[in-house]
Amino acid sequence: MSLDFDVFVVDPKPIPSTVPGFDEATWPPSTSTLISDDDDALLVDCLVTEQEGRELAAWVRSHDREPGYVYITHPHADHFLGLTEILAAFPEARPVALAESIPAMEEQISPAYMRVWGAYFPGQVTDKPVSPEPLAGTTLPIGGSTATVIPVGTTDTGHSSVVHVPDLSLVVSGDVVYNQTHMWLMRSTPDSRASWARALDAVAALEADTLIAGHRNPVAADDDARRQIAECRRYLADFEAALEGSSTPGELIDRMTAAYPDLANPYTLWVAAHDLLRAKP
Ligand SMILES: [Zn+2]
Repeated sequence: MSLDFDVFVVDPKPIPSTVPGFDEATWPPSTSTLISDDDDALLVDCLVTEQEGRELAAWVRSHDREPGYVYITHPHADHFLGLTEILAAFPEARPVALAESIPAMEEQISPAYMRVWGAYFPGQVTDKPVSPEPLAGTTLPIGGSTATVIPVGTTDTGHSSVVHVPDLSLVVSGDVVYNQTHMWLMRSTPDSRASWARALDAVAALEADTLIAGHRNPVAADDDARRQIAECRRYLADFEAALEGSSTPGELIDRMTAAYPDLANPYTLWVAAHDLLRAKP
C-alpha cells in the first residue's frame, strides 16, 4: 500500500434549539480524515462525542495503522473532544495543533465551556477532555511523505489551519471550507468574514484537487476542492449582502434560504441570523 486517505463521516445530530421557531435543531455533519502510508498514519480532527471517538478509533484500527500524530485544525471542541477516546486507543499517538491555537483549545475544555458542550450533547461528551500539544514547525510526517500545516487566521474561529498533502493533491480543511453545509457565522463580524474570505484565497493558492471539509453534507456531490472553495466564497458574499439588506432575523433567513435551499444544517443559519440581527432596531 502507498500513500492514501480515507474519511470518517458522522451524520447531523439532534441538539436543543435556542432560537424561536426552529424545533429540529441539529449539529452539522462532521468528518475526520486518516492519511496513511505503508506503516504510518496521520489523523486529522477527532469529532465530539465519546461514542464518535470510540467509533473513530475502531475505524482507524480497521486500517491497520497506528497514527503517529493526531492534528487538530482549529480551536472548536466539536473537532477534538473525541481526542480522549483516540488517545485511549492509541496511547503512542502525539496530539498536536498550532502553538497559537492552544490557549483557545484550553479555554474550550475549561469547566465553563464544558458545561456549554454538555448542554449541546447531554451525557455524551467526555469528562476528561484533553488539549493537544504545540506543533514544532509546520510539517507532519506520514511515513515517507510529509503533510504541511497552513495557518490561515480567523475563519469561523481564530487560529484556524488546514493540512496540505501535496503528494495526494489533498487539503483537509477543518472549518475553513464547508462542503454544501451552512457556514458558521454566529458572532461573526465584517472583519472576521473578510478574514475568512482571505483564508479561502490561501487555500485556493494550494491548487489542490481534493478537499475534505470538516463539515460535509452527506449528499454532497464530491470533494472537489475548486467547487467547494468557489461555493464558500459565494456564500460569504451572499451572506454579507443579505445581512446588509435585512433588519430582522427572518429576512436574513428567508434571503439565504432562497439562495441556498439545499445546504445541510439550516439551524446554523438560524442561530447566526438571530445572533447578528436580534439587537438591530
Ligand atoms: Zn466545526
